[in-house]
Amino acid sequence: MQDKLLIGGELVAGAGEALPVLDPATGQEVAAVAEASPEQVDAAVRAAEEAFVSWSRTTPGERAQHLLALADAIEAHTEELAGLESLDCGKPLASARDDEMPLTVDVFRFMAGAARTMTGSAAGEYVEGHTSMIRRDPVGPVASIAPWNYPLMMAAWKLAAPLAAGCTVVLKPSELTPLSTLRLGQIVNEIFPKGVVNIVAGRGGTIGDRLINAPAVEAISVTGSPATGMAAMRAASQKIRHVHLELGGKAPVIVFDDADIDAVVETIRGGSYFNAGQDCAQPCRVMASAKVYDRLVADTASAVGTIKVGGQREDGVEMGPVISAAQRERVSGFVERARDGAEVVAGGGSGAGAGFFYQPTVVANVANDAEIACQEVFGPVVTISRFDDADEAVAWANASAYGLASSVWTRDVGRAMAVSSRLRYGFTWVNTHGVGTPEMPWAAMKGSGTGCDMSVYALDAYTAIRHVMVAHS
Ligand code: NAD
Repeated sequence: MQDKLLIGGELVAGAGEALPVLDPATGQEVAAVAEASPEQVDAAVRAAEEAFVSWSRTTPGERAQHLLALADAIEAHTEELAGLESLDCGKPLASARDDEMPLTVDVFRFMAGAARTMTGSAAGEYVEGHTSMIRRDPVGPVASIAPWNYPLMMAAWKLAAPLAAGCTVVLKPSELTPLSTLRLGQIVNEIFPKGVVNIVAGRGGTIGDRLINAPAVEAISVTGSPATGMAAMRAASQKIRHVHLELGGKAPVIVFDDADIDAVVETIRGGSYFNAGQDCAQPCRVMASAKVYDRLVADTASAVGTIKVGGQREDGVEMGPVISAAQRERVSGFVERARDGAEVVAGGGSGAGAGFFYQPTVVANVANDAEIACQEVFGPVVTISRFDDADEAVAWANASAYGLASSVWTRDVGRAMAVSSRLRYGFTWVNTHGVGTPEMPWAAMKGSGTGCDMSVYALDAYTAIRHVMVAHS
């Protein structure tokens, strides 16, 4: 198993402590990855700083060629990378391979094209005798921090956009799930010039902290929890830097009485328990019009009861364990505290065996301001609450500290438009939930972050607008 870091074009063993990597489906150790030492973090940042001089001056076409070559290489290694991902996260192999890998590859292909769209917006004589132009240039070395829920796909999001923009990167995967990213480092190293991409493994509070505070880092990009986002903001306040944050979510699913209830239930059954619910856009906070509430609760509870839970390679498995014992305890804590006042109508307990399984769970009769309705559980748990009218639904949804994903379910186009326009969320689906494409932004508002991943707008975090003025004489 490739467990080496990538620093300045060399694959090197971490000089820090060896951290165990567990298979969440069994609780067994499957690898030990030595984390980077502080000196190795500094060396990786130095390598990125040196490589920036030439990478930032490549043409968009050259950068696109590298990104396309990387996409092809990842695609050629789909089976191997998906195997590592599913082992490391405990997720069904089919999810890692058939649902996640195509988007991982396509993000690199999209960004290869996006690199060639970076234009300034004006050129002209705004002062007599002078011509002005607007340039859009890469900001410098980027510290990219990735989470454990979709390690490889998040690595793709954290790499593709800055590389397309002309930035160099030092990427740190989560200490819980470094395997696929470290293997990616080996593949990257055969394609990109040395120092353009560097990968260091290690814990957040030490290695991650060293990385985001490194003096040469000009931009910090985090996908992770709000606490890590705040750490990035603090680092940026010590030396002014660009900050891009994709943090947690608590997606409201607003179901009006004219909605297609079967479609809502099918989406919840498929989407809310995908990746064991560890998804920032998870449709987890269902708000139902009082008229359809009882039917929605009954149908959801019975549909969720049929989800097949098991190990990565079990026949027909639909949902795996959560990432760790600590995460399961956290999820369980939310459900147990909710029992006072709400009703657990499906699941509500740990699974059997040594793995970190938690049953697909539905909690009904949840007050709109209850802890479990407002805070991110990040596990296989859906809550269902009632609302009386659109104003009330929008008010409850907007009161959330989060502002990432949301969905509105109604057959009335006017109502769908009106409600969508009032929601303070980075993205809103109508009559669906969870469908992503690299052309469209994965955008955050409020406590869910700043800026977006995917789409041409992802380049904004890694580029600066510049004015160049030329005097005619
Ligand atoms: P986390 O914040 O605990 O860890 C994320 C990464 O940050 C890890 O690599 C970790 O080592 C690092 N880190 C932690 N503390 C740090 C510090 N002080 N300095 C630098 N790095 C530090 O988050 P997680 O538990 O891995 O992931 C779950 C969270 O990520 C959830 O809140 C989820 O909603 C969010 N997430 C958001 C998106 C999105 O697109 N908005 C996507 C996936 C996950």
